[in-house]
Amino acid sequence: MDIIDKLTEIFKEFPGIGERQAKRFVYFLMSKNPNYIKNLSDSVLDLRKEISQCKECFRFFIAKDKKDRICDLCADPNINASTLMVIEKDSDLESVKKSGVYHGGYFILGGLVPIIEKNTNSKIRTAELIEKIKKDS
Ligand SMILES: [Zn+2]
Repeated sequence: MDIIDKLTEIFKEFPGIGERQAKRFVYFLMSKNPNYIKNLSDSVLDLRKEISQCKECFRFFIAKDKKDRICDLCADPNINASTLMVIEKDSDLESVKKSGVYHGGYFILGGLVPIIEKNTNSKIRTAELIEKIKKDS
């Protein structure tokens, strides 16, 4: 596998990106100058370094201190803890937040499963959700 195929495989894992688009990304990167490539790779590494996952809602957030384990939303004393919105993934939470109409807590489920699926525990955070509901009630 050459570097073009390797990068194509990596980009194919991105949500909504197929083989053709993944290849277009690779050819786009080949046309960019070394500074652009360095900035891109440094930013990807920094993302990993600077994010934490909230132990309450499982949302990814930029942690000011790596020891921070609770995100700003869960730490907000003004949230209505009697309501909990269960959301499939982090990116969906952004649109809900932007609407500004909901002031309760959040929980990131980590995915969706087909209704006929028997064992859902391995794919989504069912046990963590039940634990959170018990703790908050
Ligand atoms: Zn949180």
